[in-house]
Amino acid sequence: MRVSVDPDRCVSAGQCVMLAPDVFDQDDDGIVTLLQAEPPAELHTVVRQTASLCPVRLIQITE
Ligand code: SF4
Repeated sequence: MRVSVDPDRCVSAGQCVMLAPDVFDQDDDGIVTLLQAEPPAELHTVVRQTASLCPVRLIQITE
């Protein structure tokens, strides 16, 4: 799995950080930052959940 984000579209909702804090973080303005572009297998399910729950669907996953 490879993860990418488009921070320019982030609305700082924070669901990604609450669900997968090992993969996503927020900067001082609340904008998403990616901690792991290739998360380990045990995180794949939760990363898929973040992609579907992000209100602006900016989390892209390549399997
Ligand atoms: S869930 Fe989406 S909009 Fe919210 S902080 Fe994460 S990437 Fe940004």
